[in-house]
Formats: sequence, C-alpha cells, structure tokens
Amino acid sequence: MRKLTAAKVAALLVASAVLTGCAAGEPRDLSPMVTAEPPMPANATINPKIEAPGGGEDDCGDPTVSLKPQGTAIPPGSTMDKIRKRKKLVVGVDQNTFLFGFRNPTTGQLEGFDIDIAKAIAVKLLGHPSAAQFRAITSQQRIDALKNGKVDIVVRTMTINCERRKDIEFSSVYYVAGQRVLVKKTSDYDSLKDLGGKRVCATSGSTSLRNIAQSPAKPIPVAVDNWSDCLVMMQQGQVEAISTDDTILAGMAQQDPTLKVVGERFTEEPYGIGIPKENKDMVRYVNAVLDEIRGGEWQKSYNKWLKPVLGSDSPPKPKYR
Ligand code: GLU
Repeated sequence: MRKLTAAKVAALLVASAVLTGCAAGEPRDLSPMVTAEPPMPANATINPKIEAPGGGEDDCGDPTVSLKPQGTAIPPGSTMDKIRKRKKLVVGVDQNTFLFGFRNPTTGQLEGFDIDIAKAIAVKLLGHPSAAQFRAITSQQRIDALKNGKVDIVVRTMTINCERRKDIEFSSVYYVAGQRVLVKKTSDYDSLKDLGGKRVCATSGSTSLRNIAQSPAKPIPVAVDNWSDCLVMMQQGQVEAISTDDTILAGMAQQDPTLKVVGERFTEEPYGIGIPKENKDMVRYVNAVLDEIRGGEWQKSYNKWLKPVLGSDSPPKPKYR
C-alpha cells in the first residue's frame, strides 16, 4: 500500500475545499435552489383598461372605399413633390413581425411583405428602394406617428376601420387578414371560446386586443408593445394564447414550431396604408402605385413571404369613391 505523505494529504484537502466551495470543516450551504419567475416584457399589462371606440364607430359606411387614383404625375407643391425634394420617403413599419416587417439577422435589413409594398412606393416616387427610410413603430404609435408628421405613410399590418378613419386616411385594401388564435401544440384549446379566464396576448392599440377583451368567453387580455413580446410571454408560460391576424400568427408559428394556429377566422382585417388626413393627393398617388403593382410585384412578394404559410391568394380588388 502506498503511504500518504503529509504534503499529499494537504493537497487533497485543498482540492476538496475547492470542489465543495468551502473551507474544510465549515458547514456546506444546502439551502434549496430558488427558481425566479421570469420578468414580463416592458409595458406588459394584464387586463388593461381598453377604451371603448369613440361614438359613431360605424357611421362611415364601408371604410375600405378609398380615393380614386389619378395617375402617378407629381404636381408642383403636392405632398409627393415635397417628398421628392427631400429625397426620402419616411415609412412607419414593424421590425418585429416575421413575414411582414422584420430584421433579417444575416443581412441586417428589414424585410417582409409590408416592406416590399413600402419599397414599391419609394421606387415609383424616388427611383430607388433605398429611398424608403424606415421608422420602427408599435401598433399603438401608428396613428400618432401620422398625425404628428413623424412619417409620410404607415405600412404596418394596419386594419382599415371607421374609428381610425376619423383620424387618418387609408389607401385601398392591399390584403385581407382575419383574427385567429395561436396556442401550444400540446394544448387542447380550439378557439377563444375555450380560453375563458386564461391570459391571451395582443399589442396595445390593435384591433386584436379589443376583440379579445370583448369576447363573450371572457379571456383575460394581456397588452404588450410588440408582437414579439407576445411570443416571449407565450414561451415563458406567462400567457396561454396569442390572438391576432392569421398573417402575424403564421409568422410566429414559423418561428416556433411548438405552436399552432387554431380555430376559424372570426374577424375581417382589411389592410391599408395609413396616410395623414390632409394629404389626399398622397392617398390618390399611393392608390395609383398599388394599382400598378397588383398582379405583378404584389404577387411576387406574396408568393415569396406568405404563400408557403397561407396558401395561394391574389390581390384584393380596390374600391374607390
Ligand atoms: N391588423 C390589426 C390592427 O391593425 C392587428 C395588427 C397590428 O396591430 O399589428 O390593429
């Protein structure tokens, strides 16, 4: 048998102290591990107060009827002329919604269906897609950004409705989405009806949040700034479901294959480009550009981003007044 020298014993004691993290002879800390509750995203609010729509919600008739295009000529002094002189079209977009407006991590560029539509307008007006200067805004910021002149147009999964038409103008419809529900693949939920008393996430200022709050099943609405916040809360187990346009949900289901979109569409969300109320000339101009890209560039962009997840589709027919 080999003899342990005093030096070897001392070395072993030091090694065991290092391994156990305490000096020989001291009691070891055996307190139980504490699992911290993950923090909620900034500004997340459970059961927020949601303002009822101001009076006269439905008094504008069909809100999707837009101003008739009058070609793409640019009269001196027009809104388009001012944008041309400035050489930049400032566009409010989303940067967190996969397939519509998101930053591609490999290129660092904003990409998606909404981004393509915005670029088509920049190309027509200023000759180059890079003339579109993108400003990332939340659902809640869309109307104020237009009213305060922070952006020329908003291309951001924005539903046209009478309430919003009181504050801003809209282009003709460029896509029609519908609200559905996103849940864990392992869950049994089939629709909002199954989510009474459960937390369901949507962004502040979206039509989706109000629809959740008004659901007779009484789910608990959870309001956040960005759709990506909803996805994080879902993954952290802080909400049971996300409910918004099928377009946005399809992107999230792509990003996280443990999630599934369920139930039928229970609303109609016609997307339009938001434009300041006073810039009627710009509404007609944007409608002329949309007319030009329907069928061609629209289809190319749709097929690239949305056809794989939403199936074949064609551009909606514009309605004019
Ligand atoms: N289309 C809905 C809306 O405009 C939800 C999408 C969103 O807010 O990004 O409110």
